[in-house]
Amino acid sequence: MTMRIVSFGGPGGEQPGVLVDDHTILPLAPVLAPFGLPATDITQILAVWPTARPLVAAALADPEHRIARAAVRLGPPVPRPGKVIAVGFNYPVHSHAVLGDVPAPTEPVLFLKLPGSVCGPYDPLIRPPETAALDYELELAVVIGRAGRRIAPGDALDHVAGYMIANDVTARDVVLGAGGTGSPLQMQLLRGKGFPSFCPTGPWLATPDELPDAEPLRLRLSVNGQARQDGWTSDMLFDVPALISSVSATTDLLPGDVILTGTPSGCGFALDPPAYLTDGDEIAGSITGLGEMRQRVMDERAVVRRPAVPTTPQELP
Ligand code: ZN
Repeated sequence: MTMRIVSFGGPGGEQPGVLVDDHTILPLAPVLAPFGLPATDITQILAVWPTARPLVAAALADPEHRIARAAVRLGPPVPRPGKVIAVGFNYPVHSHAVLGDVPAPTEPVLFLKLPGSVCGPYDPLIRPPETAALDYELELAVVIGRAGRRIAPGDALDHVAGYMIANDVTARDVVLGAGGTGSPLQMQLLRGKGFPSFCPTGPWLATPDELPDAEPLRLRLSVNGQARQDGWTSDMLFDVPALISSVSATTDLLPGDVILTGTPSGCGFALDPPAYLTDGDEIAGSITGLGEMRQRVMDERAVVRRPAVPTTPQELP
């Protein structure tokens, strides 16, 4: 049975839980703490998941300790990942839109998202004043459960804690750097993809039990109800096992690490004319089995306690 792991509570103070159903959360702290297991940090819980899981499964069958989903903010399923590694140019059509006619990469192109960019699935997307070209990239995110280095592709899925939706939000003009020429020495991927709120994740982390190979899953994103992205993870140049193997050749993968697997075509910059995100736009992104996230764009200068997107269960798929 797939479990849907969530976090709930205010930014920075999220607690881990598991969805009992679409409307109800089981907090993990009262389930795991009595057994001396880590109970408040999902990264630590994932590291002992084989032990924790049967306890959680038993608690799901027991009506104690329930919280109404509508009563709390859902945060990022992994609020403080050790690292967020993103993969560029993993869907050929998107790559062509960015790069034009150049040969496909022979190994995954990696970059980092700053941990401070991670936010919840319904939090506002804050548009900083540095950009006039704010864009979305809907992506399948893989969360690592078991540590490893130089993981063979055939073993890679044993290291997966689960999957979730991510939006690799990108300030295209900031990425291109001063002058906007896109020359390699001016590329600013970390800046252009690293602002606060530029990595919404969730609403939940689905354990892989019913998503054994993460393929093929359908990814769809709309802006203000208008369809923009509609792709399949089977179109990835490098699949999830290949990505895990490749990333782990460079660095240890640890529980709670997140890998963003690239975005299909349909980003705003590639439309004719380009359509960038502006204050008030509402983005909805969904992936098969992983629910739907929603962000409302708010100019950083205008962030004055305007409400985030409503998250009543009735509005959620
Ligand atoms: Zn991306």
